[in-house]
Amino acid sequence: DNGKPNLNPKPKTPQPQASDTESCPECNKGLIRRAGKREGSFWWGCSGFPACKVRFFDKDGKPDRDKGVL
Ligand SMILES: [Zn+2]
Repeated sequence: DNGKPNLNPKPKTPQPQASDTESCPECNKGLIRRAGKREGSFWWGCSGFPACKVRFFDKDGKPDRDKGVL
């Protein structure tokens, strides 16, 4: 802006934190709970994404391991 560097970039939206209690069965990194497209729906993705593509449905706030990896 006006030849000066922009020293106040817009704050980035905070990244969801990987869970320290729910870990990926493939790579052992934490899973991240994310909001789904439908309101109130959630899913879990591996924090190692895109190297690791493990995903779970959400069930009662936890990865639905019964259904298994998507
Ligand atoms: Zn993983």
